[in-house]
Amino acid sequence: MILKTRQAGDPVLRQLSKVMSTAELKSDKIKSLIDSMIETLRDHPGVGLAAPQVGENIQLIIVEDLPKYLKKLNKSLLKEQCREPVELTVIINPKIVKHNNSKVDYFEGCLSVPGYRALVERYDAVMVEGLDRNGKRIQIEASGWYARILQHEIDHLSGRLYVTKMVPGSFISEKEYATNWADKGIKDLKVFRDSV
Ligand code: ZN
Repeated sequence: MILKTRQAGDPVLRQLSKVMSTAELKSDKIKSLIDSMIETLRDHPGVGLAAPQVGENIQLIIVEDLPKYLKKLNKSLLKEQCREPVELTVIINPKIVKHNNSKVDYFEGCLSVPGYRALVERYDAVMVEGLDRNGKRIQIEASGWYARILQHEIDHLSGRLYVTKMVPGSFISEKEYATNWADKGIKDLKVFRDSV
């Protein structure tokens, strides 16, 4: 079932999400929520979705970056962003347990803030631990764009939208992004960052 995505301003996006027990994550309710979140993410389409975005304050995120999404994008920018396909990944109770100290700025969007983008500084590599949908412990080492998606989605579980972390003044419309910024690399983004 495709779920309604909650939009910025909805209190559910500002709350701390609850840690799930192994018994809870195996319940029919959660199994069907995960399936619906996958359907919802693919319908938009997007690369990540957190449970609060569909109105549930529980620690659950999904990520999927399909090869077909990457095909439409600038190849040299994908390389610079270390963006590669990510197969469907469901993480329950995700936690960033380690990150490197290098941060990078890129434009980011969110299904709960449709029509806009902004520069957000993120670690370029993180290690995330959590459980998969069967309750098995997982550890993910992610770098580049995958690391960015994970940080963005995990922030949702603390009630934080990217707008609380964005570079002030870098908030732009999707149209402006598509026209002037979609192909721009890190050097141009730095000039922009310093100018706003
Ligand atoms: Zn988001």
